[in-house]
Amino acid sequence: MLQVYNTYSLQKEKFTPQVSGKILMYLCGPTVYNYIHIGNARSAVAFDTIRRYLEWRGYEVNFVSNFTDLGDKVIAQGEKEGLTEQEVADKYAEAFHQDAGQLNVKPATTRPRATEYMAEMVRFVERLIEQGQAYEVDGDVYFSTTKFENYTALSHQKMSELEENAAGRLGDDDQEHKQDPTDFALWKKETRPNVTAWPSPWGPGRPGWHLECSVMNDELLGETIDIHAGGVDLTFPHHTNELAQSESYHHRQFVRYWLHNGFVNVNDEKMSKSLGNFVTIHDLLQTDIDPQGLRFFLTKTHYRRPISYSQDRLDQSQKELDRLYRTYQALERAKASSDGEIISQEVLSRVAELDAAFIQAMDDDFNTENALTVIFDAANFANRLLQEDASLADLKTLQERLQTWLGIFGIENLLPVKGITAEQQDLLDQRQAAREAKDFATSDALRDKLLITGLIVRDSPQGQSWEFVDKSE
Ligand SMILES: [Zn+2]
Repeated sequence: MLQVYNTYSLQKEKFTPQVSGKILMYLCGPTVYNYIHIGNARSAVAFDTIRRYLEWRGYEVNFVSNFTDLGDKVIAQGEKEGLTEQEVADKYAEAFHQDAGQLNVKPATTRPRATEYMAEMVRFVERLIEQGQAYEVDGDVYFSTTKFENYTALSHQKMSELEENAAGRLGDDDQEHKQDPTDFALWKKETRPNVTAWPSPWGPGRPGWHLECSVMNDELLGETIDIHAGGVDLTFPHHTNELAQSESYHHRQFVRYWLHNGFVNVNDEKMSKSLGNFVTIHDLLQTDIDPQGLRFFLTKTHYRRPISYSQDRLDQSQKELDRLYRTYQALERAKASSDGEIISQEVLSRVAELDAAFIQAMDDDFNTENALTVIFDAANFANRLLQEDASLADLKTLQERLQTWLGIFGIENLLPVKGITAEQQDLLDQRQAAREAKDFATSDALRDKLLITGLIVRDSPQGQSWEFVDKSE
């Protein structure tokens, strides 16, 4: 039975979508004003893994994730780069697709941009005003939080504390305009020259960020969706405000399950502008990193737990993935010299156990940590079979399982031909050193070791060279 942790109830709940077999899922996407950092990537990867698992379990997932392509960050970046807001959004939306593609994040079913829904947003705000839930002051429109029952039901804050904190942050303009310090903007007046503004009954302006997601949900998925996902930092105010708007508008439940992913820390510190420790995926992918290794690193921690990123931890994680690559490759090589179409009783029963354990792990709120243990158990079992006289059918069965499970993790290329693993490089370096020291016994032993990992090493007066063992051999 699939259970998911719902931030709204603070509990794991049995998962049942509104319509059997179909899931409406929305993930808050990035503001496209810069390259995505590792925190953005974590969110994209975590919910891509969840989507892949749900699809593998037989659900049809309608997956909508937006781009916020307007607002102060986009304007400021445009000024910095000498680009229009639209050009900034286009540039970084394209960069997102490239980075997410390298991380093997599946394209969303629909990827709306906020600026495509301006008329719908204006209509949404008009109706909230008509219903007495929102009010206009001097070209701005605010949502009246105190008129919405249970405003803090998702964030689990005390309304009184919220009011105190909000009052402390009010600027002069807000002081004058807001009826209550916790009210938030649905529409902001925009009068600056050279800044895009959209027409509205309250004069030129632009929508508040929270409004965008409510309206795009409404237009593309409907009044009630199954899963609303995002980073844990979006719980308040973003998702709290989305919920208040949407439920005021429709008078019915907006989201059945709220799923939030944990933070990414860098070198055990919070990523922040002031610390200057933003790690962008664009920069990381410029290095000789294995993009699947990065994906693996981001996926193997349970999505709700924080991830601590550091180069050391990434390298360590790559070694784990390299072990899985090697097992898969060894199975591939062994298949060439094996036959037999009958799966042994031992493999049948062991694989049935592993199948059940994998599903149990992932059904428990998508516990990739426990699922990975199952994958390593399968790899260890495969390595044992490789020492024995396993049939072709046995080898294929194990290989298929590794492929399926790692595929859900978003690791689909298990015979990477682009490069060699860190461990192979290490062995090659050791061998080079041994040859330079004229220690030919060690050098020969390392050559044999490298062959086991799938590399044929040859020597010439220019030094050592290598090639992959031909898979068909
Ligand atoms: Zn959102």
